[in-house]
Amino acid sequence: MIDETFDAIVVGAGPAGNACAYTMASRGLKVLQLERGEYPGSKNVQGAILYADALEKVIPDFREDAPLERHVIEQRMWMMNDRSVSGMQYRSDDFNEERPNRYTIIRAQFDKWFSKRVQAAGALVICETTVTELVRNTQTGRVIGVRTDRAGGFIKADVVVLAEGVNGLLGERAGLRTPHKANHLALAVKEMHFLPRDTLEARFNLQGDEGVVIEAAGTITRGMTGTAFVYTNKESLSVGIGCLISDFKETGETPYGLLEGFRKHPAVAPLLAESDVKEYAAHMIPEGGYNAIPQLYGDGWLVVGDAGQFVNAVHREGSNLAMTTGRIAGEVIHQIKARRDPLDAENLSLYAQKLEKSFVMKDLKKYRNLPRALHNKHLFTTYPNLISQALQTWFRVDGVEKKQKENEIVKSFFRTRKFTGLASDVWSIARGWR
Ligand SMILES: Cc1cc2nc3c(=O)[nH]c(=O)nc-3n(C[C@H](O)[C@H](O)[C@H](O)COP(=O)(O)OP(=O)(O)OC[C@H]3O[C@@H](n4cnc5c(N)ncnc54)[C@H](O)[C@@H]3O)c2cc1C
Repeated sequence: MIDETFDAIVVGAGPAGNACAYTMASRGLKVLQLERGEYPGSKNVQGAILYADALEKVIPDFREDAPLERHVIEQRMWMMNDRSVSGMQYRSDDFNEERPNRYTIIRAQFDKWFSKRVQAAGALVICETTVTELVRNTQTGRVIGVRTDRAGGFIKADVVVLAEGVNGLLGERAGLRTPHKANHLALAVKEMHFLPRDTLEARFNLQGDEGVVIEAAGTITRGMTGTAFVYTNKESLSVGIGCLISDFKETGETPYGLLEGFRKHPAVAPLLAESDVKEYAAHMIPEGGYNAIPQLYGDGWLVVGDAGQFVNAVHREGSNLAMTTGRIAGEVIHQIKARRDPLDAENLSLYAQKLEKSFVMKDLKKYRNLPRALHNKHLFTTYPNLISQALQTWFRVDGVEKKQKENEIVKSFFRTRKFTGLASDVWSIARGWR
């Protein structure tokens, strides 16, 4: 196959691998990136919201040619029960800024664009090639390259960066991490609903490239821990829902069944009416948070992105953590190479040190107890119903005096969840949120 030694091999061409390969290649390192898909992005699934700050730190001028759909000017957070929606909405003209902060994107196009930038920076990118094995020095155990599903020997490199995403088996097979636990993984499904541009803009009250994102939780997940979303693209809506795999196992519910229910909800159906559904995809999301992060470095290897469980499920951030961990890994490798030091575990520990100081670890650490607190079926059944009932009581003008309405609302919470249940829910969420 390839008979030369690379400074680094990057496994995977998602946001983490691309950010890492770009960072190293643009600093003059000899980089090989291997991707199993037909092209970068062909196997990738995301909502997708792109957080500009993380990409800007890798490619400051990305807005010039990246395939961006809409910049987000409005966020809706919905708490749903079977017939109603209560929620929060924030829309601001301030988001119509010169350098918008969040965009919707379509990953297949975005990853392809990112990869072109990686290649222009000097990296060699080979697709339709699955890395099957990490090759180690038989005496020292140090990783010295990879073997692929193509014919030929192994490809040598000073360091291998595992950016293989959540489904990546390479690290697991090499014994670098244990298999994911079912309660650390969500399974999400997503559909693309196409609509004429002017219909979509009228439905969401949008002008030009303005966009709206909706995040939703409640009885739509039938007591399971999960969320749903609707994101506006230029001429399509990304619609999806996801829940913990352990919950799917326990309840026997199916992701597609949930998506169908979400689509038919009285608040969602009018948004999707007469749309043309063209794509359906399913993918996992690592949601174990800080406590599920595996060993991130060793002699001759590093882990970035979803493969390292870098997802902030509370804020629905993943691609930005992927790009940030990829960039930091690339910077560290370049720094060590520039000093002509070996890329061994001791020197690569700098990666973990830098991550500790970044928002990535600080945020994940902040929410370390939240996954457990959110694994509470009352948050997805009892409370959405109680809140809907309370708001309906409050908004109906029916001759009942307001004091009586207030009493009824308070009583309904204590009657349904009892004092101890309410106190323990509030306490565990507050503890997880610290
Ligand atoms: C439904 C859904 C909605 C989401 N919405 C959002 C959102 O709105 N915003 C957000 O920031 N994040 C979102 N995420 C999370 C986000 O998609 C991930 O955090 C992000 O894609 C992680 O990037 P990555 O590069 O680590 O992994 P991936 O994007 O999964 O890329 C890994 C790459 O490695 C390749 N690969 C794997 N194994 C091998 C191998 N052995 N050899 C060669 N190549 C290999 C794969 O083909 C793939 O291209 C969402 C995820 C899902 C599933």
